[in-house]
Amino acid sequence: MAGVYDQLPLEGMPRRLYSCTPSRLNAWLDCRRRYRFTYLDRPQPSKGPGWAHNSVGASVHNALAAWWREPYERRTPLTAAILLTNGWITEGFRDADQSAQWLGRARDLVSGYVGTLDPSDDPVGVERTVATRTKIIAVSGRIDRLDRRGDELVVVDYKTGRRPLSQDDARSSLALAIYAIAASRMLRTPCHSVELHHLPTGEIIEWRHTEESLARHLGRAEEVGVEAATADERYREVMGAPGPVRARSSGAASGRTSSGTTSAPASTAAGNSGAGTAGNGGPGATGGSVGERPQVGPPAMSAELDAVFAPNPGPICGWCDFRRHCPEGQAAAPERRPWDGLAE
Ligand code: SF4
Repeated sequence: MAGVYDQLPLEGMPRRLYSCTPSRLNAWLDCRRRYRFTYLDRPQPSKGPGWAHNSVGASVHNALAAWWREPYERRTPLTAAILLTNGWITEGFRDADQSAQWLGRARDLVSGYVGTLDPSDDPVGVERTVATRTKIIAVSGRIDRLDRRGDELVVVDYKTGRRPLSQDDARSSLALAIYAIAASRMLRTPCHSVELHHLPTGEIIEWRHTEESLARHLGRAEEVGVEAATADERYREVMGAPGPVRARSSGAASGRTSSGTTSAPASTAAGNSGAGTAGNGGPGATGGSVGERPQVGPPAMSAELDAVFAPNPGPICGWCDFRRHCPEGQAAAPERRPWDGLAE
């Protein structure tokens, strides 16, 4: 992500805008220590190995995005299967057999899904970045697909996880609400509907926001932004400015990679409130290796800063990429194997 703050003159005074994505805001809400590892500590502490379920998700998203970029006559289920195969990400699987088995499943998912689409009905946007700002936050993110239905836009989000989805997932999603607001403002077109397209079941979960419910989500985003910005400021005062964020790469053929930070396949928010201020290990290399990658530990942290960025241990810790650096997380949940998030 780019620089954390922008400057916006407001009433003659410089005012810092908190620049964020929905993922960043959700990271703050889920676990402040994970937020710090993800967005502030530089170099970023080493993550664990990639997750196979993330590889499946990224491969499917990439194939569906590429499908819409094909000329109309090639928008067929077979093309979707070919795109999926050509961009298949193998990271995190137990072995080649498991990867091949899931490639077959994912191929069926994408070809079956595009079979339900009208290839002539071009979306307004695919993997479209949208952004908006208030007096407090500048928020941006990427929408899987933006449709036009009648006079309105509809935000479409693809889901590939094993957990069945409910309307509450669509209603309560901060990300989807912010995408709707940003898309509406950028394209000057009303946008109240958000949809989760759950490929494994073929279900489409829709929620139609009101202006009031969208405003509530944006207000919530601002509240979170103020909290996180205040914590960021304190981090910078104590630790100095974070360095540039390093891009991570995996085997992805295009934009989306299998890398995640915490992506529990049955995604539950971390449960209990934060406790404990145990150290995060010393600065610099922690030794050991995953492949050839050098291992980086988090910087030494004062008790005060560690409290600002308190851990929030719970079941989700088993899926946290930074669990290795977090004693509380290790105590809270067992280590997961990279392929444990796959629905067998
Ligand atoms: S292991 Fe759990 S408590 Fe520790 S950083 Fe990750 S999510 Fe937070």
